[in-house]
Amino acid sequence: MTRRTFLKTGLTLGLGITAKALGLMPALAKESGRMFQVTKTDEEWRQILKPEQFRVLRQEGTERPFANKYDANKDPGTYHCAGCDLPLFSSDSKYDSRTGWPSFWKPISEKAIGTKTDWKLLHPRTEVHCARCGGHLGHVFDDGPPPTGLRYCMNSAALNFVPASAR
Ligand code: FE
Repeated sequence: MTRRTFLKTGLTLGLGITAKALGLMPALAKESGRMFQVTKTDEEWRQILKPEQFRVLRQEGTERPFANKYDANKDPGTYHCAGCDLPLFSSDSKYDSRTGWPSFWKPISEKAIGTKTDWKLLHPRTEVHCARCGGHLGHVFDDGPPPTGLRYCMNSAALNFVPASAR
């Protein structure tokens, strides 16, 4: 490597790191939707989702605890993604976490959900989204019950409950 190439490489690397530090890289790498099987523009999502569903699924909003649709639901059935209808959670793994949000100790399949680190609060949390459309569902914490010890803390607005009797 010539000194000139070395300097050039160093400069490029330096710029890369600066861009990362400035938060430009995450913006570029932000889930554009292309990585998901179901992809829509915000305008298209707005047409098929209710405002609260759009706020939670597409803008990573969080609904109010206790005052939501499925927190207290104990009926047998399946919880589907409100965005793309992918089955995500079963009533078999739902439990009362007393947090005010529907909570599950496991998803229907590991393939149904994706996770990423969320730095919105001072401490990192693990964000959970639908693996098919990328819609934000909630977060997963490690204070759940056995056998997994996990608590999938979901927003009712991100889910559609399909009663077992309806199948
Ligand atoms: Fe989905």
